[in-house]
Amino acid sequence: MTKPVATLGILGGGQLGRMLAMAAARLGIDAHIYCPDDNAPAARVSARATVAGYDDERALAAFAGSVEAITTEFENVPAATARFLADRVPVHPSAAALEIAQDRVAEKSFLNKIGIDTAPWRAIDGLDDLTTALTEIGPRGILKTRRLGYDGKGQVRLDGPQDAAEAFAAMAGAPAILEGLAAFEREISVIAARGQDGTVRCYDPGENRHSDGILRETRVPAAIDTATHDTALAMAERIATALDYVGVIGVEMFAMADGALWVNEIAPRVHNTGHWTIEGCAVSQFEQHVRAVCGLPLGDPARHSDAVMHNLIGDDIDTVPALLAEAGAALHLYGKGEARPGRKMGHVTRLS
Ligand code: AMP
Repeated sequence: MTKPVATLGILGGGQLGRMLAMAAARLGIDAHIYCPDDNAPAARVSARATVAGYDDERALAAFAGSVEAITTEFENVPAATARFLADRVPVHPSAAALEIAQDRVAEKSFLNKIGIDTAPWRAIDGLDDLTTALTEIGPRGILKTRRLGYDGKGQVRLDGPQDAAEAFAAMAGAPAILEGLAAFEREISVIAARGQDGTVRCYDPGENRHSDGILRETRVPAAIDTATHDTALAMAERIATALDYVGVIGVEMFAMADGALWVNEIAPRVHNTGHWTIEGCAVSQFEQHVRAVCGLPLGDPARHSDAVMHNLIGDDIDTVPALLAEAGAALHLYGKGEARPGRKMGHVTRLS
């Protein structure tokens, strides 16, 4: 029997942690944020915050002593940090799940091993590997760093072998992966939650539009048929179960013209493409995650409305006065100071 959670520890201090802390507060649970940055968006809405590095064992031990459970809001928390904490207090998702999601080669190997399709891929450690891979999986592809890439960072598109040398140089010596270019019809994602008793609950898939590798819009329902919908949910459930996962997981997929679904990426956390659930469902992805990691029963993920969520990126912040004046626009601002290009400043959801 898990101890009732009065204070939930959250590793990471960004907007996802902020929305988790607010959902926890609604359930009467305090959040304690742990992150290296001062004045983090999540810390400013939480009961407690620790500003320290992920390798600071004294600070980590004190943090573990102040909470009954720990989770993370970003996937690049070092697995060693999660293991250190897990010796003291329950940590979800597990270090093992984080390790798989942190390395695109480990992630794709895992997915293929459990029978889930992905774009064809090869691990790339040298220019020779890249030249060979381009002949094996087709001339067009995307070269990505294996680790620490997000929002299209650390990615280069190749239109043929002539681009190989320049693309390889852009990796700056970091281990990489070549993925064949997926000619997808649409991008969708499933936000799934798995509880400590193994129950899985999925939200309806969202349809996502990216530009420059950054999510711009999520729309629910996605324009997919019932069979694709059911397959997408079954795939997300298979992934969460195979990882023995606890919490919310985001599964990004490419919906191909022939009806096939390829998984692009798994995110072991609440996900930007699930923000619409705050307004669109009685229990949001944030509350669902808090419930899972605190050992509470999962809530009903049913959607009561159609929804469209737009991210406010960089200068989009200038539209806030208009959004404040717009009836039905549910505005969320993350409390970040400076609006740099590509920086996610907030989002807006509209129901219909
Ligand atoms: P990622 O960082 O892997 O989530 O990629 C960001 C975005 O780039 C995706 O949402 C797609 O729009 C695009 N993308 C990534 N990988 C591929 C691929 N193998 N084929 C086509 N588009 C891709």
